[in-house]
Amino acid sequence: MFHHEDRDGMNNSNERLAQNGSPADLSPHAPIRAAVATSADYPFNRIEAAVKLDQNESAEDFPNELKALALNRLMRQPWNRYPDLNADSLRNAIAEYEQWPSAGIVVTTGSNVLIALLTQLAGIGRRVVTVTPNFPLYALGARLLDIALTEVPLRSDFSLDPAAVIAAIEQYAGSTEGNSGVLYLPQPHAPTGTLAGQQALCAILQASTNWMTVIDEAYHQFSGADSKSLARQFPNTALLRTFSKAWGLAGLRLGYALTTPEIARQLQKLVPPFAVSAMQTAVAQVALENPGYVTDRVNKIIAERERVIDELRTHPTWQVFSSAANFILIRTPDAKQAFDALLAQGVLVRRQDSLPGLSGCIRVSIGSQEDNDALLRAAFLIGIAS
Ligand SMILES: *Cc1c(COP(=O)(O)O)cnc(C)c1O
Repeated sequence: MFHHEDRDGMNNSNERLAQNGSPADLSPHAPIRAAVATSADYPFNRIEAAVKLDQNESAEDFPNELKALALNRLMRQPWNRYPDLNADSLRNAIAEYEQWPSAGIVVTTGSNVLIALLTQLAGIGRRVVTVTPNFPLYALGARLLDIALTEVPLRSDFSLDPAAVIAAIEQYAGSTEGNSGVLYLPQPHAPTGTLAGQQALCAILQASTNWMTVIDEAYHQFSGADSKSLARQFPNTALLRTFSKAWGLAGLRLGYALTTPEIARQLQKLVPPFAVSAMQTAVAQVALENPGYVTDRVNKIIAERERVIDELRTHPTWQVFSSAANFILIRTPDAKQAFDALLAQGVLVRRQDSLPGLSGCIRVSIGSQEDNDALLRAAFLIGIAS
């Protein structure tokens, strides 16, 4: 049993430990490291709704005829054998699609895994620098490994402040925990949807040549830009890409890094052997051989994004920000009220109001035309109240 005050200030993982036996023991001899025990669970709640706009997934499923091709390929494969050691055949297919040397590609089960591994590769005992507000995983990975963390605020218009990022990198130069580390920048930025200029990124990369710089391009297809030429210019850079968004394959769990052969070789050491399954490989190969559907969908999503933004600009109480991704950020008078009112209309969105600088904000994925119409209807219905 524990007293209520013991639980105050404790997060879910501690409570779970406590419920399984005696209260969580955070002494150095406890079975669980304190950095893990005191970390919150990943902030996500699965909620059922008619219109699902909370995870920036593709509204459209992977095409049926491609599903059939993948299943057919799997039928002809032996399932009793281990797959490639390092996803070798899939890396070759990605190399061809991306026009990137396969020796500079690392594939894992989601780019989320690459974020954890890059932090292990170059962050432990050093420093992780990123921006805030931000995708929560960069900071979470640092906290779990007790790594010093610097979060550089975006400007008030959510644009990247290169001078501030450079200052954060240079601030600790010369100290053991600061001379190097990992720098994470999402491009376009999540969850604000802003796109940093090439000049701003270039200035940062120039100032961080002894850092592992990671540009997370999960949404790059929706921005019409990418950072490949920067990654070629600065060999300490890794670009992260995923099948979870534009490809419509979030259920597949595959992501990859584009980097130099040397960094890829080192990073690959941290990936467990045979980590990418034969099933994942077959589906991804079919997708990479038939990528035409992605371009069509991306164009549709971009057109829908601009339509939704235009319509929401006339909303009486919401402020909508422009976006280079497949989601939009909206400032409402009260995020909880807006979230609840939208959900009551069957529209599920994501609250972002607990992130620094995002009070009142919700994030809404751009879905199918019908999904977006449902959002707009609900938004104007509840408009005055929230
Ligand atoms: C969705 C998303 C990813 C993709 O993660 P996966 O593990 O590949 O599904 C990566 N970075 C950001 C910022 C994202 O929003």
